[in-house]
Amino acid sequence: MLKDFSVSRGYARTLDSQDSLGHFRKRFFLPENTIYLDGNSLGLLSEDAEGTLLRVLDEWKRLGIRGWLEGQRPWFFFGEQLGEMASALVGAKAGELVFSGTTTVNIHALISTFYQPSGKRSKILADELNFPSDLYALQGQIKMKGLDPDQELVLARSRDGRTLDEESIVEMMTDEVALVYLPSVLFASGQLLDMEYLTRAAHERGIPIGWDCSHSAGAVPHYFHKWGVDFATFCSYKYLNGGPGCAAFLYINKKHFDREPLMAGWFGFVKERQFDLSLQFEPAPHAGGWQISSLGVLGSSTMEGALQITLEAGIENIRQKSLMLTSYFMKLIDAGLRKAPYHFSYVNPAEAHRRGGHVALIHPSEALRINEALKARGIIPDFRPPDIIRIAPIALYNTFEELWELAKALQEIMDRQEFKRFEHSRKAIS
Ligand SMILES: *Cc1c(COP(=O)(O)O)cnc(C)c1O
Repeated sequence: MLKDFSVSRGYARTLDSQDSLGHFRKRFFLPENTIYLDGNSLGLLSEDAEGTLLRVLDEWKRLGIRGWLEGQRPWFFFGEQLGEMASALVGAKAGELVFSGTTTVNIHALISTFYQPSGKRSKILADELNFPSDLYALQGQIKMKGLDPDQELVLARSRDGRTLDEESIVEMMTDEVALVYLPSVLFASGQLLDMEYLTRAAHERGIPIGWDCSHSAGAVPHYFHKWGVDFATFCSYKYLNGGPGCAAFLYINKKHFDREPLMAGWFGFVKERQFDLSLQFEPAPHAGGWQISSLGVLGSSTMEGALQITLEAGIENIRQKSLMLTSYFMKLIDAGLRKAPYHFSYVNPAEAHRRGGHVALIHPSEALRINEALKARGIIPDFRPPDIIRIAPIALYNTFEELWELAKALQEIMDRQEFKRFEHSRKAIS
């Protein structure tokens, strides 16, 4: 397969030697003897993130409660400050982004404000390919309004079970729809929806729209304010490398700063008066008002370092390299692994503007066991049922040569039928 120079190891090395982001790799802790391609599920620890974690741990040691105001980055303002730092990644204006909660908790906080069924306009329009947690949250929110999710949650359907057609989504934006809520990148197929187009289409029909950008933040630039996105949330432990269970981000467009946070909590209070401990909730007049609880400062302190490294690299550069990595891998598949006896292909859209940061590799019958065989060789992708092996080369720490190694491993696993050594059943996390 690998005779043509453009798919040779030598060419992969050439690409690596020309890579202007290549030097970031040495600032990450790469698991030993591993090719790590699962950064869209859990990004890796950087020295930078370790550094901010250790600093905050030391502040707790030395300062105790004084750390809330006297930490190098006072813990009391950490959520607002990290929101400000991350604004450049998603095109947020001052006060529109806060680091708080977790993705699903933020969805509840946001939907409780933005889903206001009234008269005929009572439905939430979502899609059947979103991550299940998002749909559970939407169902719960509909019930909290005393309504029936079977009636009020309408899901855009996928024709091929993999991707969504933006125009069909727009057709479903009827005058019965009170809110649209969609993912930026589909977690399985990696399709990137046209957020600008869908946001404009929703607004033309008088419908607010919110986005879950967990699968794009840190890999794809966004322009929330410019596009007029009403609200959004995204987790920090995938492409943003914040660490397992690290807090999430919450975005509210300025035009909605006067809306009421209904999942109210004391961390959403106007900061200057939070410690007056008034019994009357006075929400901060910006995204910070949607915070609920104290930030888990220790578990989230990694985010500062993780953000620094992303900002230093630049989100546009990250996107450019990410597209080169995924294009390169698709080329390797096309060049030698589509044909018999390999039968690999991918179901992410091939066009750059329609795909996120991963390749959704498929094998018609043996994806699960091939995934296990890769892991046994120290190559870590992940598996999503029924047949997708997600390959996420991360711009900050993966190389072209690693993708070449992966293609070679896939070829060998099939040539030697290595996958047959593995069970058909799945572990709790695969
Ligand atoms: C990763 C992800 C989540 C994760 O939710 P948590 O509340 O952070 O566990 C939710 N939704 C989407 C679309 C995701 O990609």
